[in-house]
Amino acid sequence: MENLLIKDVDIVITVDSSDSVLEDTSIVVEGSTIEDIGPADEIGEKYREPDFDRVLDGSGMLLMPGLVDSHFHLSEHLSRGLFPDNMSTRPWVFNWAKPYYASVDEVAEPWSIRMACLEMIKTGTTCFLDMGSQTDAGISVKAAAETGMRGVTGRHAADVMPDEIPPYWSEEMVDHHFFDDADEALAALRESVEEWNNYADGRIRCWANIEGKEPCSAELHRGASELAEELGVGTTYHIASSIEEAEGSQEKYGKWPVSRLADIDALGPNVVLAHVVALKDHEIDLLAKHDTKVAFNPGTSFKLAKGAANIGKYPEMLDAGVTVSLGCDGNSAAGSADMFKQMYITAGLFKDARMDPELVPARKAVRMATIDGARSLLWDDEIGSVEVGKRADLIMLDLDELEWTPFHRPVQTLVYSANSHNVHHSVIDGDIVMEDREVTTMDEAEIKEQARKHAIRTAENSGLSDEVPTTTTLYD
Ligand SMILES: [Zn+2]
Repeated sequence: MENLLIKDVDIVITVDSSDSVLEDTSIVVEGSTIEDIGPADEIGEKYREPDFDRVLDGSGMLLMPGLVDSHFHLSEHLSRGLFPDNMSTRPWVFNWAKPYYASVDEVAEPWSIRMACLEMIKTGTTCFLDMGSQTDAGISVKAAAETGMRGVTGRHAADVMPDEIPPYWSEEMVDHHFFDDADEALAALRESVEEWNNYADGRIRCWANIEGKEPCSAELHRGASELAEELGVGTTYHIASSIEEAEGSQEKYGKWPVSRLADIDALGPNVVLAHVVALKDHEIDLLAKHDTKVAFNPGTSFKLAKGAANIGKYPEMLDAGVTVSLGCDGNSAAGSADMFKQMYITAGLFKDARMDPELVPARKAVRMATIDGARSLLWDDEIGSVEVGKRADLIMLDLDELEWTPFHRPVQTLVYSANSHNVHHSVIDGDIVMEDREVTTMDEAEIKEQARKHAIRTAENSGLSDEVPTTTTLYD
């Protein structure tokens, strides 16, 4: 078992239960686990530097837990900037994302995943919750494992087609996206979880994920929660992702999406709901009562006009004790895998919209991007904070960068000033995956070249063009 000494770190943001910030600290990592944390001089007396396989010098650096992205689409990463930016959620999903996803083949998908993981490591993310492969969970599991990332993935599933198939949906696309019914979808999910969960010594987990909302039946929503519980994993899907979806749910079922999930017994502590922008006050209690997690995606809200600041109830969810974590979502939806942006938006959006400076302080934004993300992923027993006994998923920022010169309060500087490119070293599961901004687990040049090549090919295969409408009446 390799060991690692991280010595003389200027500042450690631990994100422990009391948000301790430590100065002049050293950290001892045995294998994948944080074995000891203490004042640099004490650790220096207790351990001998030559006994360590690896030593990272933390002087002039800030160390913190790696960021946890709780809503991501690894398979969407080659689509950056492909769709128009004048669309709301439903036409974005139904008219553009569906044909695009169907064209991500088994050759392109691993490159999409590698490119996404490369960007995550370089911007300080060490763990993700991915919606899952378009075809085979094994593709996502294996490609992500090779990159050194920690994460949860799965296999995309839906079972409800719209009443009428639009002309820009090909037959292959329809075949690709929809199972005949919930039982068939659940059988495929069970198979993928049983085959792939706890891959790479448990660094990659596999969940029973579904698309959620209109393209999924009540049986599939409930079935995914039940299956996840039975198999000891989680499930995640999109819900209450736009006001239009909520109004459609009201018309069809007489209630908004989260109330409907409660009615059909689909809520639970192992469920992570992505977006949840359209929520009524009384539905906050339903989420709190069932300890159901919410992944807020500020970047997507900005681009797809979801109305997080206008109608969103994220501060109220936080007040009610709901675990709200942060996600970057897909590359077409938000355009960035950078969790620093999500922290920055989250710490400012509600203050400004409600003219209330008490809302979502920097300290909370950091928790949402770390320990609360870990809690959403049912992984907070092992990751999300820098504490003895936890896995060593750590990032180190260079305090000599412009954004940190000079600075006073470190947590505030991290959220309002820092840039993700300040992340200098990254450690996942005790392994150094980036040193001096050089990713050690991947060939960056090769991945970029392949990503560009397959991005062009996939866009061509998708058949997407300006003829495809930017509004929709599907599933109305
Ligand atoms: Zn999404």
